[in-house]
Amino acid sequence: MDYPEPLQRLLDELMKMPTVGPKTAQRLAFYILRLSPEDARALADAILDVKAKMRHCSICFSITDVDPCAICANPARQPTVLCVVEDPRDVVALERTREFRGRYHVLGGAISPLDGIGPDDLRIAQLVERVRAGGIEEVIIATNPRVEGEATALYLARVLKPLGVRVTRIAHGLPVGGDLEYADEVTLARALEGRRDL
Ligand code: ZN
Repeated sequence: MDYPEPLQRLLDELMKMPTVGPKTAQRLAFYILRLSPEDARALADAILDVKAKMRHCSICFSITDVDPCAICANPARQPTVLCVVEDPRDVVALERTREFRGRYHVLGGAISPLDGIGPDDLRIAQLVERVRAGGIEEVIIATNPRVEGEATALYLARVLKPLGVRVTRIAHGLPVGGDLEYADEVTLARALEGRRDL
């Protein structure tokens, strides 16, 4: 059955979202249809607002609405320890543990030759630049415990160690093939605590 054009348009947009198939899109679309005009506008405004206001921090490349981000701008955060992650969502996960008091560097992914992602496609040059600038004593590599994350960790150790910093890797105990963002706080805190030198 064909839907009227405005409804079909909404369904098409919703189905572009991750994990949203036709059934879920239909459920969401009919939910939106029942919203009051004010609530529908609030939803649309929130989408436009997040696109207009969120950007990458110019120092750590996490997402933020102020640049530099709240973590980079916080003088209470240890400037000597840097935690390298793949994705801004990993920063959120690590912050939830309340274990880490240093700063972050977000790579924007992991090295994956099969997907055509090499070191130049990630923010590795910017990381090397931060370490070269001095003041950093330890770089903790907290990429995901998958093949790509491990390859990235080894690559980073090779380029960073000659710069005279200690390079460590968070401990396993994280489910292999899993994502940092889905690990519970205790597991993640232990992984951070049990890090080893690379
Ligand atoms: Zn930042």
